[in-house]
Amino acid sequence: MLNSVRVRLTLWHAGVVASLLLILAGATLFLLQRNSLRRVDNSLEDVADAFLATVRAELHDPDSSGHFKDSVAAAIQEHTYREISFSVFNAEGELILSSNAHPAFLDSELSRFNQLRAQAAANPPPRRPFRTLPASGHVYRGYSRPFSVEGKNYVLVVLQSLHGEHEFLEAVTQTYALLIPLAVLLAGLSGYFLARRSLSPVVAMSSQAGRIGAENLHSRLVVRNTKDELGHLAQSFNQLLDRLDESFEHQRRFVADASHELRTPVAILSGEAEVALSKSGRTPEEYRESLEILRKEAIRLRQIVENLFTLTRADIGQYPLTPAKFYLDELAADSVRNFRALAQAKQIMLQCEAAPELLITADESLLRRMFVNLLDNAIKYTPKGGTVAVSCSRSDSFYSVSISDNGPGIPPELQPRIFERFFRVEKSRPNLETATGGAGLGLAICKWIAEAHQGRLELTRSDATGSTFTFFISVADSPNSTQAV
Ligand code: ADP
Repeated sequence: MLNSVRVRLTLWHAGVVASLLLILAGATLFLLQRNSLRRVDNSLEDVADAFLATVRAELHDPDSSGHFKDSVAAAIQEHTYREISFSVFNAEGELILSSNAHPAFLDSELSRFNQLRAQAAANPPPRRPFRTLPASGHVYRGYSRPFSVEGKNYVLVVLQSLHGEHEFLEAVTQTYALLIPLAVLLAGLSGYFLARRSLSPVVAMSSQAGRIGAENLHSRLVVRNTKDELGHLAQSFNQLLDRLDESFEHQRRFVADASHELRTPVAILSGEAEVALSKSGRTPEEYRESLEILRKEAIRLRQIVENLFTLTRADIGQYPLTPAKFYLDELAADSVRNFRALAQAKQIMLQCEAAPELLITADESLLRRMFVNLLDNAIKYTPKGGTVAVSCSRSDSFYSVSISDNGPGIPPELQPRIFERFFRVEKSRPNLETATGGAGLGLAICKWIAEAHQGRLELTRSDATGSTFTFFISVADSPNSTQAV
């Protein structure tokens, strides 16, 4: 039960309300009791003053006997109150007269009176000569006042029953005892309903979220109020679903495109093999021709699989980069040299213009791969007799390498998609069909290689006169060892 947030909130709420009410009740009772005692003490002092004034007046009254005891008796007569009694003691502690006529009371309480009397007679006298005395089932407030008459010392003890005050405090306590549990119960109930009401969107959200799986990733949580905390939670959850959905979609497209690209070479391989095997008595040339087709398709298949493997590892950040120091201009010249034969076969002029000693720290094999992909494309798309030029330079912050060709260029509306995986201009423009044989992964890999080196790859020119691809690599940054796109 305590695992429920609703129950925990309710208990907290009720607990806090109960503690507050108890503190409030305790403080109120304490203050009430203190004030009522103060009031009683003040009245006891006033009454004692009046009593002694009467005693003195009686002593000096010519009509009275002039005896001390008679004067005290007259004062007792005059000051008759239901809750207050007076007792006068002599210096020896003997009771001279008491207004409380009940002998049993006097017998049982005399010792307590004496305590008060003794405290009043003490030297020095107490600062507050008041005491609360439990007596015969009642509680009294006692006040003792020493006085002297005709050279003799006496003590006046005034007692007031606290019965009324106690009854009042008891009534207040009982009221609290009744009201506090009721208030706590109401607080608990209201807290529970409040918690239930506030958490109901969370419950709804969690059951909605529970119904969302890979097959319905397009579903979203209902956002009731976009401005409150739960609304923010639902929005964050929906944004997470957006990202997941996008990533799922991306993966799905990747797998679909990959299988599509793999299907063609596999179909050619199996078709060609079947044809070669179906006819008996084929000439060695015919077999050689078939084997040549099989070899080409196998190479194409291997390239696609290798590219897919590279991109997949890059995606999960598991392609280890091995940075080393080398000269970028030498790598460019070497790459150009490797393409000389191919260029010559197509009567394409290959130029390389590089600033000397461009020392760089990078993954050489990946940069070589980038050169190969870009040069391969440039030669592939440049018509017979055209020119492909490579230039390398360095500024304060970047190395830049440009590869320009005289190809047909890329239509402006397709340029933004040129680095997408499996994107080929020929696919979107079937009339541009040029039988390149590529799978549309080369530029995506080049882009990743540039970004893995904290750089970027851009199509810096593309029109009817040809295209230029430029990659920039930061001079300062060393590449991370497992950087992904
Ligand atoms: P592919 O292996 O198919 O060449 P790429 O990712 O290298 O894949 O290129 C994607 C597409 O971009 C190509 O199919 C082609 O349409 C276009 N492309 C790339 N380089 C050039 C270029 N130098 N000139 C014209 N089009 C190019």
